[in-house]
Amino acid sequence: MRSEPRVTVWNEYRHEHANPAVAAIYPRGIHEALAAPLRAVGLDVATATLDEPEHGLSTSRLAKTDVLVWWGHKAHGEVADEIVERVHARVLEGMGLVALHSAHFSKIFKKLMGTGCDLKWREAGERERLWVVDPTHPIVAGCPEVITLPQEEMYGEHFDIPPPDELFLLSWFQGGEVFRSGCTWRRGQGRIAYLRPGHETYPTYHDAEIQMLILNAVRWAAPVGAATPVRGNRAPLEPLGG
Ligand code: ZN
Repeated sequence: MRSEPRVTVWNEYRHEHANPAVAAIYPRGIHEALAAPLRAVGLDVATATLDEPEHGLSTSRLAKTDVLVWWGHKAHGEVADEIVERVHARVLEGMGLVALHSAHFSKIFKKLMGTGCDLKWREAGERERLWVVDPTHPIVAGCPEVITLPQEEMYGEHFDIPPPDELFLLSWFQGGEVFRSGCTWRRGQGRIAYLRPGHETYPTYHDAEIQMLILNAVRWAAPVGAATPVRGNRAPLEPLGG
């Protein structure tokens, strides 16, 4: 069995300072709300935020990260391209990425997807039902058939992503839209999971079922420990000819 992944939870950490309603739900920041249930099961979890030097994502921090969890929304453009390149390189090397909610529009997610990543949205506090559409997928281990969130932001199709390698959650919203809410992709040696829920003005990350999904996604996205492939010109393993 693989050992537990070392996790870094990255949060933009701006809404919590600008909006008292968000600060009331996440008094220590969304990153701490995401980190706490991971730490509770024994994972080694660091946090990093936008306004730290290098956004908290130094080369040494990333070298010690097996899975990076990303929450960003209103300041995607302030994430330095140099840091995006650094994270991208680590994903291709094998670091997992769990992109949450509005991270669909983060520079790193868009770069990894290669598509526009836009979608429909509406902030009306409506009900969301997340249906498990792949009960064999490890990220839904322990989940009920449907998770109901009483109030969430609506995200609707079409979600401009490349066809996911795996689709395990499909959301229905009270207003009628549907959305691919749980998806995975592989890039290089890295695994990427997207989980939709988590608008900052609702207590979604305090929901035990959502916390379980995130824990499962972190474990799924961890590097499997295979050797790094060697590419380029090489000598034959066996004598050729003669
Ligand atoms: Zn949102």
